[in-house]
Amino acid sequence: MEREFRICSECGKIMFEGYVIEGGWRYYCSDTCLEKNYTRDEFNEMYGDGDTETYYTEW
Ligand SMILES: [Zn+2]
Repeated sequence: MEREFRICSECGKIMFEGYVIEGGWRYYCSDTCLEKNYTRDEFNEMYGDGDTETYYTEW
């Protein structure tokens, strides 16, 4: 069985866990890749109360 994965939108690395932005519009493998595109404040705003389409997960 193949494990599900995503490709980091910043560095192109295969990722088995990481950040999902706006339900999959972008994926980021690490804080470093995330922070090249969003500030922590912007992320926190999108993340909101945790019940949004922006979150950290494992696939
Ligand atoms: Zn990355």
